[in-house]
Amino acid sequence: MAGRDTSIVHIVHVRSGFAKGRACYTAPGMSDLPESAALPAYLRNLNPPQLDAATSTEGPLLVLAGAGTGKTRVLITRVCHLMVTRKAFANQILAVTFTNKAAAEMRHRIAAVVGDTVEAMWLGTFHALAARILRRHAEHVGLKPNFTILDQDDQIRLIKQLLQAENIDDKKWPARVVHGVIERWKDRGLTPERVGADPAAEVAGGKAARLYAMYQERLKTLNACDFGDLLMHNLTIFQTRPDVLAEYHKRFRYILVDEYQDTNVAQYMWLRILAQQSRNLCCVGDDDQSIYGWRGAEVGNILRFEKDFPGAKVVRLEQNYRSSGHILAAASGLIAHNRTRLGKTLWTAANGGEKVVVRPVWDGEQEAVYVADEIEALQRSGSRLGDIAILVRAGFQTREFEERFIALGIPYRVIGGPRFYEREEIRDAIAYFRVIVQPDDDLALERIINKPRRGIGEASVQTLQRLARAKGIPLLASAETIVTSDELKTAARNAVRRVVDDFARWRAQLDRAHHAELAATVLDESGYTRMWQEDKSPEAPGKLENLKELVAALEEYDDLPAFLEHVSLVMENAEAAPGDMASLMTLHAAKGLEFDAVFLPGWEEGLFPHPRALDEKGEEGLEEERRLAHVGLTRARTRAYVSFAANRRIHGMWQSSVPSRFVAELPPDTLDVKSEPGLWGDGPQFSASAPSAEPSFARGMRRAPVIEGRATELGRDGSGLTPGMRVFHQKFGYGRVVAAEGGKLEVEFEHSGLKHVMESFVEKA
Ligand code: ATP
Ligand code: MG
Repeated sequence: MAGRDTSIVHIVHVRSGFAKGRACYTAPGMSDLPESAALPAYLRNLNPPQLDAATSTEGPLLVLAGAGTGKTRVLITRVCHLMVTRKAFANQILAVTFTNKAAAEMRHRIAAVVGDTVEAMWLGTFHALAARILRRHAEHVGLKPNFTILDQDDQIRLIKQLLQAENIDDKKWPARVVHGVIERWKDRGLTPERVGADPAAEVAGGKAARLYAMYQERLKTLNACDFGDLLMHNLTIFQTRPDVLAEYHKRFRYILVDEYQDTNVAQYMWLRILAQQSRNLCCVGDDDQSIYGWRGAEVGNILRFEKDFPGAKVVRLEQNYRSSGHILAAASGLIAHNRTRLGKTLWTAANGGEKVVVRPVWDGEQEAVYVADEIEALQRSGSRLGDIAILVRAGFQTREFEERFIALGIPYRVIGGPRFYEREEIRDAIAYFRVIVQPDDDLALERIINKPRRGIGEASVQTLQRLARAKGIPLLASAETIVTSDELKTAARNAVRRVVDDFARWRAQLDRAHHAELAATVLDESGYTRMWQEDKSPEAPGKLENLKELVAALEEYDDLPAFLEHVSLVMENAEAAPGDMASLMTLHAAKGLEFDAVFLPGWEEGLFPHPRALDEKGEEGLEEERRLAHVGLTRARTRAYVSFAANRRIHGMWQSSVPSRFVAELPPDTLDVKSEPGLWGDGPQFSASAPSAEPSFARGMRRAPVIEGRATELGRDGSGLTPGMRVFHQKFGYGRVVAAEGGKLEVEFEHSGLKHVMESFVEKA
């Protein structure tokens, strides 16, 4: 490292609330590093501030540092150091990671230094660790040690029963809404008694807190708990049983936490109470990577740390070892647009390197072609697929990449979730389509006959199956027959009749209606879409987006049977190919990981920043989205590719989109903008509008983008179409130009309202 060619690629002034004068390294000086030969091997690959953090074992320590500065490496080394120097046995160390996968990785790396002893460590996620503690003391919160951890379906079913018992209209207050409220309270460490005047208590006609208390009682009766309870019960035990707490105080001499910026209040309280006595709590995190606010994470926990642990040492790491210069500079330039941040300096010795490739594409399909081509090119130049990742903002985006990879035979895996066609909601929807196309498909019908719940319980399904077996007929035929009898209770019979009628009606439309429209109708009329709309869990909006993407995918096929054929073939292909694979995942799932090459597709307004984040949280939401973009870029070691499509099919309609404002926020000198003339169709207007040497799209990117349908400073640009002109667009009809620039128009259409369209798609009217 000594004597290297270093450069500070980006400096953000520190606006930290942290007290000054503590150990805070600002320059990469080598002087404090002890003779490296004198250090044991496991410490030798740390720089001075990292070494300081890893070896300052006593007292509270916060490592607050940017992406790729070695926070996780410090944490792992610190654990090794504690064991090697015999400050603690493995079972006296508690280390918390964000995912099980991260825990496994950490275990592996610690084992490389200390061997099997690592097995005795308390290492895992908050949930896993809290569950382990709760099993040992369940009786103190009225549970037996063999308690069940309920999944979300069961939790919601339970709340539904309570709503009924309380005569609360679950149409007005769906169980999923109440469930969401309770979950958020648990994130904040609020027991039913402590909810008090929280605004969310207004839910369910002001009965939310009461329902919460009843729900907790019911769970106890069932000897069960939910995920939030794991921590909450721990807290209750620690607060009410000083003897138990004392046991853990004695046991856990050292506590370490990775990805600290994404802890919620309950997790923070848990850490604080456990570390109260030893005060040996080491948290590592980066406020610029806080991306789980929507799940109750509180970046403010970082600020509280010093208050709750006065005298805490704060170490800042400033050398990024992961990314090359341009990538780091691009990420730093982007995140500098956030106002609420502590600010930090980051530099890298890996000067220069490849610039961030910025690539406009025509549509999602072309984006998938582009990414797959680049991946193949990387492979040809010797890259391993395992070093390549595609990070998407929304789960639905994986579909087009998956289809392309399968078509080209590029092995891939989806991390943090199933492949597109294996997702629950997609399988459900496809089950509906299968029954329509092939009424004898019993497996498909069984899957969705009571999904959404429509009062056809287990017993009714068994009755249907019995008849089917007895008569040797398919399940749907059995249902058709049974509704003419009294075999089922009235309510169930009516429900089965509705299903039979629905499928008959949908099947009748099979040849008449457009298949994508039929699919949308089926999802709506069956109540399936509504089920997810009413679901207030954080996953529900993503599932709805996946369903829309499914309907959009149908457009690419001639009819429903052709599509189903495609899906079954795709699924078959997906089974094969172990070994080297490219990774496909959401930006959220990519936290803490690193890859040589990272593709960041879909950087468009309306997709990224995600409109939901903006709608729900405004500026705060935008900043969290920007942190997400920053997390994405900082996953890359040597290559990063940002792309955006000019057109997306949304609800089966093509919509033109503009590049994400984040593209405009990337420092231009870190970018390599690849714009191909003619990419936007060979409409003469487009080339005419780009007289400068710089491609027009790149030019368009550098100005403030259009925000949520509101015109910004778009003006005339000599293209011939100017504000006020009347135009005709094939899909949207007639409208008037509001603004024009760089080959793009903002047009107020007479029927479809304000849209952003490509100039080459409209004619003067
Ligand atoms: P993130 O914020 O993304 O979680 P991080 O701060 O945890 O990142 P690490 O994952 O620990 O960073 O380290 C990033 C990369 O830099 C890893 O490949 C790691 O091995 C390497 N690295 C860290 N410190 C050093 C060092 N002192 N010398 C060489 N490489 C290092
Ligand atoms: Mg890390």
